[in-house]
Amino acid sequence: MKEYNYIFGPIPSRRMGNSLGISSIEKRSCTYSCVYCQLGRTKNLMKEPKKFFKTEDILEEFKEYLKEDVDIDVVTVVGEGEPTLSDDLEELILGLKAITDKPVAVITNGSMLVYEKVRKALKAADIVLPSLDAGDEETFRKINRPNAKIDFNKITEALVQFSKEYNGELWMETMIVKGFNDKTEELYAIRKILDRIDYDRLYINTPVRPPAESYVEEPSKEKLDEVIRILRGTSIQMLSSGTFFSEITDDFEAIKSIISRHPMNKFEVESFLNSRKCRDKEEVLRKLKNHADIDVVSYKNYTTYRLK
Ligand code: SF4
Repeated sequence: MKEYNYIFGPIPSRRMGNSLGISSIEKRSCTYSCVYCQLGRTKNLMKEPKKFFKTEDILEEFKEYLKEDVDIDVVTVVGEGEPTLSDDLEELILGLKAITDKPVAVITNGSMLVYEKVRKALKAADIVLPSLDAGDEETFRKINRPNAKIDFNKITEALVQFSKEYNGELWMETMIVKGFNDKTEELYAIRKILDRIDYDRLYINTPVRPPAESYVEEPSKEKLDEVIRILRGTSIQMLSSGTFFSEITDDFEAIKSIISRHPMNKFEVESFLNSRKCRDKEEVLRKLKNHADIDVVSYKNYTTYRLK
């Protein structure tokens, strides 16, 4: 089976079902370098969109992929960083929508909504999922560690504006990190901004995968209850998740391909191998443990695999 450059998954998404990922930017390019980022620290800390890959190449690959007849629920432009940094975002979304009748979603940190061109591009998507982790500049700098040119107030204003103009589904996400943005007054500051945004859903997330910084911790169960009460959102952890999928036939190569975009813990690797009726799971786990390009991280009592 084929190895793809821009397409990965489908990944079981708690929010969206079987999500086929479209990666349209270079790895670890972002406007932020969040302390909790599961990709590790940002390598290319950018401040504005630029050209990355040719849209026609991505769409060509997508067409090829659809011939495989894999069951997907949604096509998600997610990238390995911030996908709205791609200058060709509108062309990409419209191109995808011309090829498939599945909904097209974009996961974004929202920082590039300050550009009219990006707001226009995102209006073409069926679902936009922006994040908002802070209610003030100081917390924003602490948790999201943005490029110095990025202005928190401009982003929140752009988010409010976009939410009034957008006709699709707007699903907000807030990541809560212990000691960073979980004080009661910080939660009320986030709530105050959320009150101005016309969104359809709010998901509360916590750092369940190995974060960029080892000092990042999840909030307690009691704190999470307070967060859900104040922000009036749904905890992502409460939603059930499915199994990973890959069209690559070799089990080890399939996992390697998935973890290049999305870390997997041992439990997920095992259920993935079970779903493929793998005969020698131990051998695959041994290869994962010993491979020079793979980081084996112990986090929250789980062994997690991610590509270096
Ligand atoms: S915005 Fe997303 S991709 Fe960028 S650093 Fe934060 S978590 Fe990572």
